[in-house]
Amino acid sequence: MKRVAVLGATGSIGASSLAVLRRNKDRFCVRVLSAHRDWRSLDALAREFDPEFVVLTTPPPEDFAPRWPGAWRHGADALTEAAQTPDADIVLNAVVGIAGLAPTLAALEAGKRLALANKESLVAGGDLVLAARNRGGGELLPVDSEHSAIHQCIADRPSAEVRRLTLTASGGPFRTWPRERLDDITPADALAHPTWDMGAKISIDSATLANKALEVIEAAVLFGVDYDQVDVVVHPTSIIHSVVEFCDGSSLAQLGRPTMEVPISWALGFPDRLDDPPAEPGFDPLRDGPLEFEPLRHRDFPLFAAGVAAGRSGGELPIAFNAANEVAVEGFLAGRLSFGELAQVVRRTLEQFSPNTVDSIDQVWRIDARARDVARQESGRGEALPTRAGATISGDD
Ligand code: NDP
Ligand code: MG
Repeated sequence: MKRVAVLGATGSIGASSLAVLRRNKDRFCVRVLSAHRDWRSLDALAREFDPEFVVLTTPPPEDFAPRWPGAWRHGADALTEAAQTPDADIVLNAVVGIAGLAPTLAALEAGKRLALANKESLVAGGDLVLAARNRGGGELLPVDSEHSAIHQCIADRPSAEVRRLTLTASGGPFRTWPRERLDDITPADALAHPTWDMGAKISIDSATLANKALEVIEAAVLFGVDYDQVDVVVHPTSIIHSVVEFCDGSSLAQLGRPTMEVPISWALGFPDRLDDPPAEPGFDPLRDGPLEFEPLRHRDFPLFAAGVAAGRSGGELPIAFNAANEVAVEGFLAGRLSFGELAQVVRRTLEQFSPNTVDSIDQVWRIDARARDVARQESGRGEALPTRAGATISGDD
């Protein structure tokens, strides 16, 4: 029986993970659950799974009155400690944003299997994450669907045999919108993803294609390949999740209708496949074809190129890209920035940073904090811009 800590249990990936774990109670038990603010949902989950303890990363609010009588821990440090708890063998990190980095490092240092959905960890802390894995002997399994696909295709082949990785992108909700309409996009438009049902931050990242830039960086870190070896292609139906081309000219792809339960199940069960098909039917060539592809619209979605360039340069730049993007997404969700201004804020923030080497976690926090300050200034120098029509959805923090 493997014991699992689900960090970010109240989110979209948290819900998909708990759906897989609920169906596989003979192999896994949930020992830790965490949320940031949503203590009511955490309370309900705790009553269902009866873990050793739960973590609410914010201090208990005034109306805090949980019905689950077990141990409640509070604060960001409690989340990092939870990632190292002797009560869990597997840590599933489904926290959103840079807050996921400390638990990622802690879980790998403690020798856990880390099922990692939190891609921001790898973007801001890539080399440090790999070093923590090497020191602690932890195991890093990607949950992001494209990276899970690559992991499944590479299997046990040595990295020297991998020639090229092709990540697919749905293209987001504005794939076919003409350029002149892009600046009228509201948060509600951007949150309506055509193929994936996800949390707010990644939905906006998906609409701007910043998500795909984060994923290119994630792939370069996870699979140790050069940026020149990673391609992205738009594949609107999200059936092929990635393609790996090997040195003999053969290419392998992983296919399936879009559900995060498959990559989650792979990360939990590896090297076994769980005998547990999700509710989504498997791939059917007649129903799911034809499989179509398009190039990315680089000029209309400039955050993609900005993010890949930041990853390629390395040093402070991917940390600053991640931080500025998080601030810009919050600003867009709160109605302070237009869709077009997201990329401007990120670009102007990146101009203040350099590819200097970053070799400690304290440096990462300092660069992250400075990039957030710059991005907030660039988002209107602290003054709220006029609220845009339809901007009624608030951000995560
Ligand atoms: P959600 O916003 O749906 O959920 C985020 C979770 O993290 C919630 O449990 C939330 O708690 C918690 N959380 C939020 N802020 C903090 C914080 N500062 N400290 C600790 N916990 C926090 O996000 P998703 O599930 O969509 O995404 C999670 C991660 O997985 C992201 O990194 C995303 O990029 C990645 N991912 C997501 C995919 C998807 O399909 N959704 C696909 C591939 C990757 P609360 O509910 O209390 O706010
Ligand atoms: Mg993905």
